[in-house]
Amino acid sequence: MKIREKILVIEDEQTIRNFMQAVLTANDYDVLLARTGAMGESMIASHCPDVIILDLGLPDVDGMEILRKVRRWSKVPIVVVSARTHERDKVEALDAGADDYLTKPFGTGELLARIRAAIRHTRTPIGSEAVANTGIFKAGDLTIDYAKHRVFIAGQDANLTQNEYKLVALLGLHAGKVLTYDYLIKELWGPSARSDNQILRVNMANIRRKIEQNPAQPVYIFTEVGIGYRMIEGD
Ligand code: CA
Repeated sequence: MKIREKILVIEDEQTIRNFMQAVLTANDYDVLLARTGAMGESMIASHCPDVIILDLGLPDVDGMEILRKVRRWSKVPIVVVSARTHERDKVEALDAGADDYLTKPFGTGELLARIRAAIRHTRTPIGSEAVANTGIFKAGDLTIDYAKHRVFIAGQDANLTQNEYKLVALLGLHAGKVLTYDYLIKELWGPSARSDNQILRVNMANIRRKIEQNPAQPVYIFTEVGIGYRMIEGD
């Protein structure tokens, strides 16, 4: 029997709620709808949805506040939906623990793809199951060996420095997900580290020279401009 995932949509615009309900129901999800933040919060507590789609612009409370509150106690995947297009809004939402960010207007295909990705990531909390089981991340010619603390390209040691290795290893554990600059800096250099993206950029440039065939057109680690980096999903 197929388990139907429960998706809670917190959205005040009725047309969008109706659209989501139609699309998600047609794709075999159970859909719960909340039109205010307060309703949404009580439904999160009472229904334990598998995924939350959260509008930021709600009539009674800022969606960001809900996001922060939920993250204090739950790892449920949250896809933020917003008309806010500024990069800093995206960064703020991702830093606060959103799994993904959809900018209005968006299409059916994009909505479904983001939900599938969000669900995949909860099933495998630390990167892919393969990494958890074998200590090895593989994507194409790239291999991260977590036991040896080494990165190989087509079997050859890429000779990464310690910092470069830590950065690649972290991205590999969360392959497919954007890790923000702030998150990476805090993970790599501690919570009191200065939020200086320059040092990250220098490390990434060196990493790309070592692992990418053409550093200007990376195929393993992608830049999400103004936000952070994302490792390609593993094989
Ligand atoms: Ca709204």
